[in-house]
Amino acid sequence: MKSQSDTVSKILKNYDLCEYCTGRIISKIVGKPPSKFLGEKFLKKPSKSDHKKCYICKNIFDYLEPVLSNIFEKSSHFDFKTFHLGITLKPSFLERDDYLKSKFKIKGIENIKFGIAKELAKKISRRTNSKRTTDDPDLLIQANFKDESCTLRAKPMFVYGRYNKKIRRLPQKQGLCRSCNGIGCHNCNFKGIENLQSIEGEISNLFIKKFDCNQVKINWIGGEDQSSLVLGNGRPFFAKILNPKRRNRILRKTCDLEGVSLSELQKLPLQPKGSISFKSHVSITVDTKKSISLTQLKKLKILENTEIKDFSRNKRSLKKKIYKVGYKKLGKTSFILDLFADGGISFKSLIQESDVVPNVSELLENQCECKKFDFKNIVV
Ligand SMILES: [Zn+2]
Ligand SMILES: [Zn+2]
Repeated sequence: MKSQSDTVSKILKNYDLCEYCTGRIISKIVGKPPSKFLGEKFLKKPSKSDHKKCYICKNIFDYLEPVLSNIFEKSSHFDFKTFHLGITLKPSFLERDDYLKSKFKIKGIENIKFGIAKELAKKISRRTNSKRTTDDPDLLIQANFKDESCTLRAKPMFVYGRYNKKIRRLPQKQGLCRSCNGIGCHNCNFKGIENLQSIEGEISNLFIKKFDCNQVKINWIGGEDQSSLVLGNGRPFFAKILNPKRRNRILRKTCDLEGVSLSELQKLPLQPKGSISFKSHVSITVDTKKSISLTQLKKLKILENTEIKDFSRNKRSLKKKIYKVGYKKLGKTSFILDLFADGGISFKSLIQESDVVPNVSELLENQCECKKFDFKNIVV
């Protein structure tokens, strides 16, 4: 149509545009998808000596190479099949783009940022054999055209597993690094945790090496004392692997670490939602102040199928229950209490005088002390 080609020639007569920007700006007017080829068709064949600069993009499309080579270098350290690309551009690019669009009343076309990102993504896809997507990409690429830099971040991954603890004096959790309080600093090698042996530390180090990641956050299904053993099938846990460079590495089902062995290890596509309920079979060694008789110990049977109330915690905490009770006299002033109970009960508070009701010390009318407790099994 006459008026359409009029607008196009008016734009091209007044402004020097590159083939990319031409294709984009006129796409709506001529009713074709924006492309370099569309632009070429409407631009008069520029002679090679013609070094006119594009009004909008200052020929940025000819200078994608430095940014691209940065991206290729950095992304070569990452396993990824999909990526999302964001770009940072000097505001003047968008200002010129908007000015020209408003001057010629052009609406509903891609902006210059979108155009550059599209071209860049095409090249990244081709070179790295990956796809651009906004839907949960493996890798986030942020390219900055102000200084030709780029930052890459891999999507987190999740691992499920169980651990058995065979030695005492090994805490479950690692303390936070005292210098940075968990943020990550030079003192802690950017792991955010103290440099002491713990189950958390051992599992974290394993995954940090395996997946070449920055940090590991572990979600425990219950916890135990430093002196407790964890037997049976082991305690389940979920690990969130932050910024893993090597997400495709094979993870074997089992792994033996120092004093800890891992089993049922598997990568998960997503983190399980909400809290996971579990029951545990625990064996508690109890010392009593006064001597204790078997007849007195029989009273412990009333704990069976009893709800445990902890008045020290807020009342909205979930109801916990003991399902099975067994006991064995060890000596004059000691016995073993075997329980099968909901996870999350504080066994020390159950045995020793506390705000937990019922309470073993009260029940036996004898001051009891929880010497140690071991987990025989944990059921999810
Ligand atoms: Zn241009
Ligand atoms: Zn630190």
